[in-house]
Order: sequence, then structure tokens, then C-alpha cells
Amino acid sequence: MSFIHEKSLSSADSEVFEILENEFNRQSTHLEMIASENFTSPAVMEAMGSIFTNKYAEGYPHKRYYGGCQFADQIEQLAIERLCKIFGCSYANVQPHSGSQANGAVYAALLQAGDKLLGMDLQHGGHLTHGAKPSFSGKNYHSFTYGVDIDGRMNYEKISEIAKIVRPKIIVCGASAYAREIDFKKFREIADSVNAILFADIAHIAGLVAAGEHMSPFPYADIVTSTTHKTLRGPRGGVIMTNNEEISKKINSAIFPGLQGGPLVHVIAAKAVAFGEILQPAWSDYAKQVKINAKILGDTLLQRGFKLVSGGTDNHLVLVSLIDKDFSGEEASVALENAGITVNKNSIPGDLRPASSTSGIRIGSAALTTLGMREKEFIFIAHKICDVLDNIKNTHIHAQIKEEVKALLNDFSVYNHATY
Ligand SMILES: *Cc1c(COP(=O)(O)O)cnc(C)c1O
Repeated sequence: MSFIHEKSLSSADSEVFEILENEFNRQSTHLEMIASENFTSPAVMEAMGSIFTNKYAEGYPHKRYYGGCQFADQIEQLAIERLCKIFGCSYANVQPHSGSQANGAVYAALLQAGDKLLGMDLQHGGHLTHGAKPSFSGKNYHSFTYGVDIDGRMNYEKISEIAKIVRPKIIVCGASAYAREIDFKKFREIADSVNAILFADIAHIAGLVAAGEHMSPFPYADIVTSTTHKTLRGPRGGVIMTNNEEISKKINSAIFPGLQGGPLVHVIAAKAVAFGEILQPAWSDYAKQVKINAKILGDTLLQRGFKLVSGGTDNHLVLVSLIDKDFSGEEASVALENAGITVNKNSIPGDLRPASSTSGIRIGSAALTTLGMREKEFIFIAHKICDVLDNIKNTHIHAQIKEEVKALLNDFSVYNHATY
């Protein structure tokens, strides 16, 4: 056996290798501030790039449809145990290929086509899978939305009134662009008042919840989903958790054979590694610092005269409102990219611009905190962001800041060339 199996990527496929090198260089020379991104550890990547990618393991531990699954069983069981320990729950499914797949399974398990679903409006910070019309969640189910108040915060009394009118079968709480703490206890009361199932999607905040730095959805939510690649800092993927045995059985059949075929065992192995990292004492310091860094970033932007939706942050992100500026979120994110700072344009509540341009940008602290950056660096970066936005047309200033960004990143790197 020789041919391709003996070769490293660089000699086996230089075309792909070169693209990877370019991505490595991009990640090492730009400030990663997309609120949904993070840097996994080399150990997570090693597990993800492992021989488990060769294995078919349809089914669940000890109930498989293929032979040779004893080690796949062990790794999946380990990932489940670690996840349940982190969040203090009884049942978990670690097979969802993504956060959206996890949410699809929740609906498939608990709703019939056409059933009523109440989730947060996409433009107000909700996710596509919370009932937005272009998503399966808005197409297959009868979806209704709640939003934030004029102050940018959830108003639980209003949400309760909407729930009483809609009488949904399921209420979704959780968000992709909401900078404030979500009160799961209040959502439980609302769900109880209309006999709805409460579903918490903690895709963004899970890493904070894991450290006790955000209120936990347990014991309030009937069912909880998350991505594993955002603040949880694991491989790309999803998970589903519950304390209800009946629900857990329905979820398992909704994932397999309902929505997915074979699980990505290599990704499950990487999830187990990431969960192991979260169970270390250092995780709490990380989560605390993520919040401190987002707060100081927001405070500095406010000092420099920028507006934040909700006026600040309780978590890992800020949502900057450009409503009083003569440029869009799209223009802002392009200018920042040219200055070596990666963020994303984001709709803000009441946005008059379309989703392709928007009047906001979302900025997160999770990835740079992983690199070891603290208050000092975040104040510096916040000022650079303001300098770019205050000089949105001045490409000379953008190029100059790009050099300063590169110099800063010289002192903070997680990977070396051996990592990929
Ligand atoms: C990111 C996100 C998802 C979807 O995750 P994917 O892995 O991109 O499918 C679901 N819900 C919320 C709240 C998210 O922020």
C-alpha cells in the first residue's frame, strides 16, 4: 500500500495545501471578532482530523447498525457524559452536525407540520431557525415572533402578552445578536401560562453558561440546544440536552433516523476533547475574561460616541448601531476588514436597510480572549475600530491600522504551522 496514504497534505495536494496556508495566514494576521467564532485547541483539531472519520456508526452507543463500533461507542458515551456534567442535565445527543440540525430535530421531535412556534424575530437578534420565513422553521411550522423594546431589551410582559394571543406549542428563547442576559425563569413562567414547551437555544452563550457566567436554562427549559463551535470553543457541530426522558427518546429518533445518517464520529471525538477542556478549572477564568473584554470594548465604543443596541452588554458581544451614521454595516465591515479587523454586518431592531447592507455590526470577544488578550488589548482595539469608522473613507488610515493589528498579533498566536 503506497500511493496517497503515505503523503502529507503538502506533498499530496499542493493546491489544497496552499489554500490552507493562506487561511492560516489570514487567521494569524487579522483580529477575529466575529461573535460566533473562536479558536479551538490543537487537541480538538487533532481529534477532528483523526481516523474516526473512516467509521460508520449509525445508531447510538450499543445500538448500532454497523460492526466495529466499540470505540465509537466509547467516544460518544464520553462526550455525552462530559456534556451532561458541564450543564447538569440527564440526557444529551451529541450527533447533530450543526446548530441548525439540532434545532430541526427539536421541532421534528415535538411539533407536527403547521403547529405554532413562537421565537425571537431575526431582525431583533433571533436566529433563522427560530421561525424565520426563509428557514425550514418558518416554512414547515406556523411561526410567530417577539422582539426587543425600544431600549433594545426583551420585555417579558410583552412577550407574555404575545404568547397569550398566539398560544404556541413551543416557545423558543435564545439569540444570535442579543447582548443582554436572557431570563430563562421568566420564559418558563410565560411557557407555563400558555401550556407551551420551552426550548432554549444557547448557541451563543453556552460557554458562559458552562462557567456560571450566564443564567443556566436548566432547570427551566424542557429542551436545550447549542452549537459547539462558538463560545464552547469546540469543533463545528451541535448538541441537544434535556432532563426529560420521553423528550430525549423523541430527540434521538428525530436525529437518527429522522434527519441524519451516520454521525461524524471524528467530530464527536473533538466535542469530547472540547468538553474536557471546559471541565478544567481554567474555563471559568476564560468565561469571566470574555465578559470583561466585551464590556470594556462596549464602554470604549460608547466613550467614543458610538451607539450600542441595548446600551451595553452582559455577555460576549456588542451590537453597534450605525443608525446615526451615513454608512451601512456592510461598508463598516469592509473598512474594518481592510484594517485587519474581522466582524460581521448585522441587522438591528427596526433596521430600514436590507440584510445585505444593514445598519449594524456585531463584535464579539470570545476568539481574541482565547488568544490571551485582556482589557489593555481590548481598549486598544476598540479605539482602532473607532478610528476606522470615524474615517470610513480614508483607506490610508485603514492600511496603517492593519500594520498595527499585525504587530499586536505577533504577541498572540495559538497555532503554529504544525497545527494544520
Ligand atoms: C449559530 C446559531 C445557530 C446555528 O448554528 P449552525 O451551526 O450555524 O447551524 C442556531 N441558533 C443560534 C441562536 C445561533 O446563534
